[in-house]
This record gives sequence, C-alpha cells and structure tokens, in this order.
Amino acid sequence: MTWCKRNIGLNRRRHYLPILEWHSVGEDCGDYDFEDNIISVYKNQHKSVLEIIHTIIHEWCHYKQSKKKYYDMDEKFGYNKNPLEIQADNLANEFKYKCRKDLFY
Ligand SMILES: [Zn+2]
Repeated sequence: MTWCKRNIGLNRRRHYLPILEWHSVGEDCGDYDFEDNIISVYKNQHKSVLEIIHTIIHEWCHYKQSKKKYYDMDEKFGYNKNPLEIQADNLANEFKYKCRKDLFY
C-alpha cells in the first residue's frame, strides 16, 4: 500500500487512504468498495506474491478512478469490457514486477 501510494499516487478527491482487508475465501481475486473505500483481497484466489501484488495494484487503480465513471462504463460495456477494468489490469501488469522487485529484492 505504501508502495502504491509512492509509485501510483493518490486520489486527491478522497480524503482518506483506502483500507486494506484480507479475507481467506472469496469468489474473486479482490474488489474495491467505492462507497467505503475498502480494498479487499481474497487469499484463496492467489498462488503467488506476484498475483497478490497484481490484485492490490488493480484495486488501487479503482480507488483512483471516479465511481460515477466506473458505473457509467459498467452499464455501457459490462464488467469484462469496462475500459476502467482494462485500465486497472494494464496498470497492474505494467507495475507488478517493479513492485515485487522494490519490495523483495
Ligand atoms: Zn477491477
């Protein structure tokens, strides 16, 4: 989270950092709650640290996005083709190796 803050940056419209919650079991890798500003990570959906990093960066990206825009796009394109989902995945893919390197090597 500190890494995300430094490298990906903050959402200036939000007054608080997102809260990170770990869950043992879930259906998805993670999610971001726009209402309560909570990033959830579901441990059973991950096999490596890199995958966990991917999820956290992905959800951090949602924290930076606009809730209204997200739901507008969701309505238009559906979950899988939502450009903001694609943006979150691209960002995670772009930064995950650097993050792992910075944190663990
Ligand atoms: Zn997402």
